[in-house]
Amino acid sequence: MRKPFIAGNWKMNMDCAGAKALAAGLAEQLKSVDTVDVAVCPPSVYLQAVATELSSSNVALGSQNVYFEGNGAFTGELSCAMLKDVCCTYAIIGHSERRHVIGETDELINKKVTAAITGGLLPILCVGELLEEREAEKTTEVVTQQIKKGLAGVTAEKMLAVTIAYEPVWAIGTGKTATADQAQEVHAMIRALLAEMYDQTTADQVRIQYGGSAKPGNTAELMANPDVDGLLVGGAALKVEDFAAMIKTVA
Ligand code: PEP
Repeated sequence: MRKPFIAGNWKMNMDCAGAKALAAGLAEQLKSVDTVDVAVCPPSVYLQAVATELSSSNVALGSQNVYFEGNGAFTGELSCAMLKDVCCTYAIIGHSERRHVIGETDELINKKVTAAITGGLLPILCVGELLEEREAEKTTEVVTQQIKKGLAGVTAEKMLAVTIAYEPVWAIGTGKTATADQAQEVHAMIRALLAEMYDQTTADQVRIQYGGSAKPGNTAELMANPDVDGLLVGGAALKVEDFAAMIKTVA
């Protein structure tokens, strides 16, 4: 039985006061929720401040990125140890904005996934197709490649640390949500792929989140799918009432 997992990706939003207020509001709203794993991923400069607000809550902390090296001359990057030092449990890796805006490759993403697992962070590996790839009926091909390359060298045992987030790029921040059927179809394909790459037991244990304009009004429908185990939420994670409502719906 997979425990639902809802994570909020705050992206490059908020100031310090807003980040602290959002975290404190969620800690308060979600104090009796224990049937859903919840995490928030603020901008890295606010991780420490948010960690303080969440210290006695059941909301975990995640980063939006991580670098694969341990330390040294890597200007602007953050290591697993640094992120753990400020109380991160999770790390989003390979978000579509990092793939398509910053230019991250599957090879780089794979190094980050591997380093995160070794360094004690739980990766949320994001995959998903562009609109033109969906229209060209290449969704399975694109997502399969992203998963195979992103997870290269990750053993079945280590795979239990990984969450996959299926985020069709055309649905992120656009207000266009994949239908429940579209989400289920790709999630089932991903689970079958994991069974082929690993084994059925491993595939049955890995949580697969959906991301792309998820909000309070579509949470129940998306989460009713047997292979949708949670949500990665952008815009709706920036408001205490919306994000808390989504989690309470799932709980
Ligand atoms: C995301 O950033 O991962 C995301 C899914 O954003 P939104 O919910 O705003 O579409």
